Amino acid sequence: MARRKYVVGNWKMNGLSDAVAEAGAIFGAAKDYPAVDVALCPPFTLIGALVAAAPGSAVGGQDCHAAPSGAYTGSVSAPMLADAGATLTIVGHSERREGFGESDADVKAKAEAALAAGLSVILCVGEPRAIRESGGAIDHVLVQVRGSLPDAFDPTRLAIAYEPIWAIGTGLIPTVEDVAAMHGSIRAALSERIGAGAQVLRLLYGGSVNGDNAAELLGAGDVDGALVGGASLTAAKFLPIVAAGAGLP
Ligand code: PEP
Repeated sequence: MARRKYVVGNWKMNGLSDAVAEAGAIFGAAKDYPAVDVALCPPFTLIGALVAAAPGSAVGGQDCHAAPSGAYTGSVSAPMLADAGATLTIVGHSERREGFGESDADVKAKAEAALAAGLSVILCVGEPRAIRESGGAIDHVLVQVRGSLPDAFDPTRLAIAYEPIWAIGTGLIPTVEDVAAMHGSIRAALSERIGAGAQVLRLLYGGSVNGDNAAELLGAGDVDGALVGGASLTAAKFLPIVAAGAGLP
């Protein structure tokens, strides 16, 4: 089944109001690649400004709380993201799992909250370096997938991003064979769980994707796009990745 390519930028904790123009440049140029779905996930503070600058473009959060509202100082809920104009959110990024102690159950609750609020979800999984080196990467990631997926979901509204932790922000990348093996294993596990919907759900690769390696990584088996950190901050670095997605069948 043909799945549309999906290239998503995660700005992490980067960007002040002067970054809105960069997002406008990215979304403007992305129209030249209609075969690719492009989204940007800025800090919460910039969501409204990006939505205003590029109406109709896909703007998302980087996380959400599992509760719709309440006494959770500093947190942002999924309905709040939707209210600000977001149409998607990332959940389960390794910087949340590791830095904030989020478990698979926490990630599952967040994904369910996001879907309930009408958002699409990018659910992140990935192994640390020691587990990759011990040969346990696929088993580790499949435990995360099984534990983090909502009980029921529309596979057109949920993507899984495989992001090996050791590849994030390091310039290191797995081999194309390793990426294809991981994505194939995730898709097989999804088939067991949701049947034919597994052929619809998009699997993204994330970790040090740039304009030089994007075609190779996005061309690996069962890779439907990329989740991009550092190289998503400027149009000059991000658009070559979008272009690579457009050049692939
Ligand atoms: C990320 O953190 O989601 C990511 C992929 O970062 P980078 O592209 O900078 O490795």
